[in-house]
Amino acid sequence: MEQHEFQAEVKQLLDLMIHSLYSHKDIFLRELISNGSDALDRLRFEGLTHPEWMPAAEQQIKLDVDKTRRTLTVHDNGIGMTKDEMIQNLGTIARSGTQEFLRLLKERKEQGLPPELIGQFGVGFYSSFMVADRIVVVSRRAGEPHATRWESHGAGAFTVEETERESSGTSVTVHLKPVDEEDGIRDYTDEWVLREIVKKYSDFVAYPIRLPVERREIEKGADGKPKPGAKEEIVRREETLNSMKAVWTRPKSEVSEEEYKEFYKHLSHDFVDPLETIVARMEGHFEANVLLFLPAHQSWDVLHGEKRHGIQLYVKRVFIMEECRELIPDCLRFVRGVVDSESLSLNVSREILQQDRQIRAIRAFVVRKVLDALKGVLQADRDRYATFWKEFGAILKQGLYGWEENERKDALLHLVLTGSSQSGDGFTTLAEYVTRMKPGQDAIYYLTGLTPESVAQSPHLEAFREKGYEVLYLTDPVDELWSQAALEFEGHKFQSVGKGEVELGPKDEKKEEEERQETAGSYKAVLDGLREILAEDVKEVRLSTRLVASPACLVSAEKDYSPQVDELMRRMGQKVERKKRSLEVNPKHELLIKLRSCFEKDPKAPDLQNYARLLYGQALLAEGSQLPDAASYGRLIAELMTKAL
Ligand code: ADP
Repeated sequence: MEQHEFQAEVKQLLDLMIHSLYSHKDIFLRELISNGSDALDRLRFEGLTHPEWMPAAEQQIKLDVDKTRRTLTVHDNGIGMTKDEMIQNLGTIARSGTQEFLRLLKERKEQGLPPELIGQFGVGFYSSFMVADRIVVVSRRAGEPHATRWESHGAGAFTVEETERESSGTSVTVHLKPVDEEDGIRDYTDEWVLREIVKKYSDFVAYPIRLPVERREIEKGADGKPKPGAKEEIVRREETLNSMKAVWTRPKSEVSEEEYKEFYKHLSHDFVDPLETIVARMEGHFEANVLLFLPAHQSWDVLHGEKRHGIQLYVKRVFIMEECRELIPDCLRFVRGVVDSESLSLNVSREILQQDRQIRAIRAFVVRKVLDALKGVLQADRDRYATFWKEFGAILKQGLYGWEENERKDALLHLVLTGSSQSGDGFTTLAEYVTRMKPGQDAIYYLTGLTPESVAQSPHLEAFREKGYEVLYLTDPVDELWSQAALEFEGHKFQSVGKGEVELGPKDEKKEEEERQETAGSYKAVLDGLREILAEDVKEVRLSTRLVASPACLVSAEKDYSPQVDELMRRMGQKVERKKRSLEVNPKHELLIKLRSCFEKDPKAPDLQNYARLLYGQALLAEGSQLPDAASYGRLIAELMTKAL
């Protein structure tokens, strides 16, 4: 027998479970049944390639009670676990839910809120310790000859040893604490208690949940009355506690909101209600029932690109596969739910799915339904939509480049929320932006950067702000990609105010152009001088039309990423070449006017070297970039101050 320590976070969690004041302790059974149902799904899936693994008996979940020993056992004949899997899954790995749970708990504690209110968290297997003194798990992985027995009191450690089990699957035996109604611990050996809990939380589970029951019965005659002289006998039989009615096949009017929510939680292992539920039926050539959920918050799997619970594919109510990627583009990968097709064949494989016309049709339907639902939320409840956007906006925007379904990009653009120079703390939509465009303005102006605060401070915005042009603040790294994808919104192109040369206002004013030429002439000495001194750092030095209050700024080429995004990519370990940018200087700024006369007097004066470096450094600082050599910049400033004082 081996003894193992629980991982530190699991220990913390178990401690909370054991001492939990949470009154809805019944949910532990939902969690165990849900794990059993997942294990049956997985066996069904792996059974496609290993038919010999499928059990001879029907796939099911069985509850067993022992009133004298006070135990409740949940059996499943699913995929089972190897010894290593048991050690990892039931003790070593702190699951995503665990960490999230502990984090929220800490937050509540800091706010002085009682901890027990968040007991509805889906903390899975460990929640059984709310009602158990001891738990024993016996599991045998499909395809393996032996089983493993896991046991724990929940305090600090657990043991594992080899054992036998007739066939593959898992049995979780909960040694129950004494009944304490006040504390929420009911009698989980009581048939009626179990019936009620299963009905409430697990009615839609696709496998039968069976319970052996005992009935006193008396033999009856044809008239339905007890036969004369017949004695009461105890009859034992198994009853199925759940209806197994797939929620998604029932008409919407017959399913309560509560049922949808429970189903969502079962499906996603989420603990928070979904933001939106989408019920739809695809009619016509191909038929399918679709039940989708938009989660209210990011789950760990989505963030890490791991898609453990995406959209499940069923064919005529038979589970076919978990996370069917063919049904949903990556940019909607946060959507959860079920697609049940009536016309696909039962033995579809992954390879077939990728080419199947029907799958493509269903996917287009799913995409349309999701985008419509999002549009609905945006129109009906802006605040609710904003909370969704904060969670999933960056993922959704991935659909704006590289997503093959072009016609949907327009629908997606309508869903974009972003900060802007005129949106204050809030967001604007692109449609709202367009209504505020100035006469003669044809492009949608934007500036990319790392945070709305740093973008708002950028000198690149000055002239736009002064002339009243609104600029969008695009601050997700993905913005850099789609904003360059040559998209149009209501006929308007997107144009970065931090890149290339900008033309503000009506262009045909000859006079302005002449003036510019003239200024450029009079600034020739300073432009040439700066170019020479800064040749290693900048590609070009030119006069700016975008600056008002600042003396200088740096501008990328039209097709380059902004320096902030380059920096971000570098930090993520990617090799990004340092690209030279153009330095734009403001001819109206006092500093430039003075520099001009210095350069005219003596372009080789030693001080000018330092001034040029300071000017360049200042442009870097103003846009929020880092100085390549902060120490020497500091020295130059100190020198300058000394002189001035
Ligand atoms: P979750 O169900 O959210 O993943 P749990 O703590 O309930 O979290 O379970 C942890 C893991 O243990 C599961 O992801 C699964 O891999 C494994 N597991 C739990 N119960 C079973 C079971 N009955 N059969 C097979 N594997 C199981």
